[in-house]
Amino acid sequence: MATMIIEGDRTKAASGKTYEVRNPATGEVVDEVPAGGPADVDKAAQAAAKAFTTWSKLPANQRREILHKAAQHMLSKVEEIAPVLTKEQGKTLLESRLEARRFGENIGWFADLADKIHGQYVRLPDLTTYGLVVRRPIGVCGAIVPWNFPLTLAANKVAPAIAAGNTVVLKPASTTPLATLLCIEALIEGGLPEGVVNVVLGQATGEAIVAHPLIRKIALTGSTPTGKRVMAKASETLKKVTLELGGSDPCIVLDDADLEGAARAISVGRFFNCGQQCLSTKRLYVQEGAYDALMEKLVARAAKLKPGNGLDKDSRMGPMHTETQRAEVEAQLKDAVDRGAKVVFGGGRPEGSEYERGWFIEPTIVENVPDDARMWTEEVFGPALPVRKIKDLDEGLRLANDTQFGLGSSIWTANMAAAHRAVQELEAGYTWVNSIVIAHDELPFGGTKQSGFGKEHGVEAFLQYTEEKSVVYGGV
Ligand code: NAD
Repeated sequence: MATMIIEGDRTKAASGKTYEVRNPATGEVVDEVPAGGPADVDKAAQAAAKAFTTWSKLPANQRREILHKAAQHMLSKVEEIAPVLTKEQGKTLLESRLEARRFGENIGWFADLADKIHGQYVRLPDLTTYGLVVRRPIGVCGAIVPWNFPLTLAANKVAPAIAAGNTVVLKPASTTPLATLLCIEALIEGGLPEGVVNVVLGQATGEAIVAHPLIRKIALTGSTPTGKRVMAKASETLKKVTLELGGSDPCIVLDDADLEGAARAISVGRFFNCGQQCLSTKRLYVQEGAYDALMEKLVARAAKLKPGNGLDKDSRMGPMHTETQRAEVEAQLKDAVDRGAKVVFGGGRPEGSEYERGWFIEPTIVENVPDDARMWTEEVFGPALPVRKIKDLDEGLRLANDTQFGLGSSIWTANMAAAHRAVQELEAGYTWVNSIVIAHDELPFGGTKQSGFGKEHGVEAFLQYTEEKSVVYGGV
């Protein structure tokens, strides 16, 4: 049975309760896990607060070295961790390997910043005084993670937090705790001091983290409704919050675009991780002259994505993570079809005995979807892509921005003026121009509108795990 990790100890829930983690491809039990609650969060927060007193005072170059060593050790275990991620989440082994590697690389990337950030010297009007702006870690940070990218999204929070000298109480999604535990175990084995990262498990631990008085900052990745609840609750203790929430990223393809490149990027953008991505291509707007050729290419690519158990080497797309998630996407699709949309590819569940016990769904492309259909107005968190013909860039931009979300966006065109205009006008935290939708470590990533606020990745994320303090030295 898996356990929580609190101050380096492998612990059960105070209540003794447990729950099962199941494989979305087969329905089989992967492991039994403690169902933690407020008492466990309290223990973890106390442990993190204790560890903060030493971790925050370590010379930053020592923190950098410890984190590099721990990350290297974790990276040596990718082949052990990846199959566990596939079994609990459903994604293919290739996707799991990439994700597990990203965990270690992310720790290393932020480790390098640990001793590079500095404050300011400020001259004051009275020359017998001067000011300093110093940056200090915040304290204990809460990291709350969803199930679609359990490792990447945990690393996005843990890495900058601990590199900056904070300590963490981490809560994985209740359905995907196992690979995360292995990653944190590996960091501890590799030399990360006990108590710097503590892992609590179970649905009830999320609210307890947000409410806990010792926890000073919350970083949540999750749905927009969860983000609103967390922000409201965090306001009671005035915690800082970073919210990475839902998205419905538009992609505009103009007539002069490189259609081969666009088809590849859109296919990866929509179908990677069985479409369960926040940054993704969720609404496609294609100019009339490019429409037929692009659709042909997209259908050809979708046809190659054989659904299957992520552990089978010929599977190109795993199952959806839960039955509820699949039902949600199917309902969104049905709503579109009932209103007259045409399914161009997929639209159902794959047939065959190997699909009977898992939450499989076909990669799906639909056109003629009416403007008020759920596929345009809501986030579609699965492998189904609505496509619409547009006359020109004006129409594309108007439709692209007609959403409550503002996470990512992309445009494909050979016209630099059109690209520049899209960059200026697309209401999103990220715009890719003629480029595959991948978030880079070097660039700050975060949404606008109801996709949240605050940044992960980049120097900006590191700074958000520090507080500025002004200091005046007098009598000099
Ligand atoms: P979710 O909002 O249901 O849960 C996310 C996490 O929050 C889980 O660990 C959950 O247990 C916890 N949680 C739920 N209610 C809580 C509460 N009241 N207080 C504290 N914690 C609480 O999301 P999900 O279904 O796990 O993930 C899918 C959603 O995440 C999608 O909307 C997707 O777009 C979004 N997402 C966003 C990004 C991004 O970076 N913007 C990345 C990945 C996923």
